[in-house]
Amino acid sequence: MKVYCNYIGGQWQESSSQQTAQNVNPADTDDVLGTVKLSTREEARRAVESAAEAFRGWRATPAPTRGRIVARFARLLEDDKENLAALLTREEGKTLAESRGELQRSINVAEFCAGEARRLNGETIQSELPANFAYTIKQPHGVVACVTPWNFPVAIPVWKIAPALVAGNSVVFKPATITPATAVRITELLVEAGVPQGVFNLVLGSGSEAGDEIVGHPAVRAVSFTGSNSVGVKLYEQCARRGAKVQCEMGGKNPVVVLEDADMTLAVESTVQGAFGSTGQRCTATSRAIVVDRVADNFIERLVARAESLKIGHGNDPATEVGPVVDANQFKGVLSYIDIGREDGASLVCGGGVAEGPGLRKGYFIQPTVFAGVTHEMRIAREEIFGPVLSVLRVKDFEEAMQVANDSEYGLSSSIFSNDAARIFRFVEEIETGMTHVNSPTTGGEAHIPFGGSKATGIGEREQGSTALDFYTELKVVYVDYTGRKREGNLY
Ligand code: NDP
Repeated sequence: MKVYCNYIGGQWQESSSQQTAQNVNPADTDDVLGTVKLSTREEARRAVESAAEAFRGWRATPAPTRGRIVARFARLLEDDKENLAALLTREEGKTLAESRGELQRSINVAEFCAGEARRLNGETIQSELPANFAYTIKQPHGVVACVTPWNFPVAIPVWKIAPALVAGNSVVFKPATITPATAVRITELLVEAGVPQGVFNLVLGSGSEAGDEIVGHPAVRAVSFTGSNSVGVKLYEQCARRGAKVQCEMGGKNPVVVLEDADMTLAVESTVQGAFGSTGQRCTATSRAIVVDRVADNFIERLVARAESLKIGHGNDPATEVGPVVDANQFKGVLSYIDIGREDGASLVCGGGVAEGPGLRKGYFIQPTVFAGVTHEMRIAREEIFGPVLSVLRVKDFEEAMQVANDSEYGLSSSIFSNDAARIFRFVEEIETGMTHVNSPTTGGEAHIPFGGSKATGIGEREQGSTALDFYTELKVVYVDYTGRKREGNLY
């Protein structure tokens, strides 16, 4: 049985911990990929120390040279795309087509960040003072921790690690415990690309031990986290105490609004894609459909027909449209939300339980589930379920749709289906989410376009796109006085 190792100070090292977790294929629990040893606090500390030691050399390496290494990493990812996609499907459960999509996004992000290495520019600014030259430079923080979830175990690490390295930081990477295999492969490719010893370190281990030790270490100057709100807020508080920078991308409860003039086929297809793609385990997954009364019956009828037709199965079967949820915890959690929906009085119109059929017995398969008659006080309309469950809420008109859509602590993504320009523009203006889509699903993003949420979803700078490097750099302001005289007057 494969035992996954840490990568610390340029060496692959097996953890001395006696605590372990199995890496299990969620489509077939008999298929065990390997064993993770849950690293000790001492090992986590060593990783931070090795990153701190390597930082000086890395920051002194010219940014375009750092970029060349990240560009080489992008090419290696591309060469390894099929292998890594197969590993991702086996480890996380998503379909092979979805895994290939995630890989392509990762390659694009790495390429984009490599290019940014040649644009780490500051600006020159006109000073009020005579014969003074004022300008800004962008500098790395030092050691950055990247703490990531299991649902995009390749793309999310890449969209943190690539900009962190390009900016000149050294990195300690703590992936989700249940997706170690892809994390190890990413590390192997970074090593092969030529990242110097100690500049990049991988620590496998539980969030509450190894993760906590890394985030709490005084040498860690910035933490980029993606995951749940409960963990993210705790890390934010922990870092705030010592003034370390934090970027948290957290949960969502993403609405689609369907108005009476919507193209109904498009609205139904896009809602199904957004709600059940990646088995609903995307932070941008559609989890609320807010539909005006006049078209609600038609929408629900067509949505249910389409959801019932989805083929559930193993991710590596090309016919599969919906894979398993990721593990036993997620399986239990999603099924318990389905019970909560029933108990709270929502009407179950599609799915509602464990998916059965040939080849499904040994996996965590759940039927695509739709609740109608959901009101916005119900828990299934307010809490993130993170599985293939969609709530349909009826509203009387656009005004009420906006009120319900914004009645959420979360603010990640949203979409509207309508052909009325005035209401589309009002929606875009008034919807309280970091990203929004018009006549397309709530999901999706591109390497060169910023990504992230508002309200309780997001803390700190947006990831990717033109803002990708903002979090990983410190802006320094420089004044050069070439008068050769004592300054006359003061600057306030
Ligand atoms: P978690 O918050 O449970 O875990 C995320 C990471 O944090 C894991 O590596 C975890 O380790 C680690 N962690 C847990 N506790 C601590 C701690 N005390 N100190 C340091 N690290 C810790 O999230 P999930 O992995 O369950 O991911 C699902 C969540 O991620 C959903 O809420 C989803 O919405 C969100 N997400 C948000 C995205 C966005 O861009 N807004 C994108 C993708 C997902 P361990 O695995 O050992 O528990």
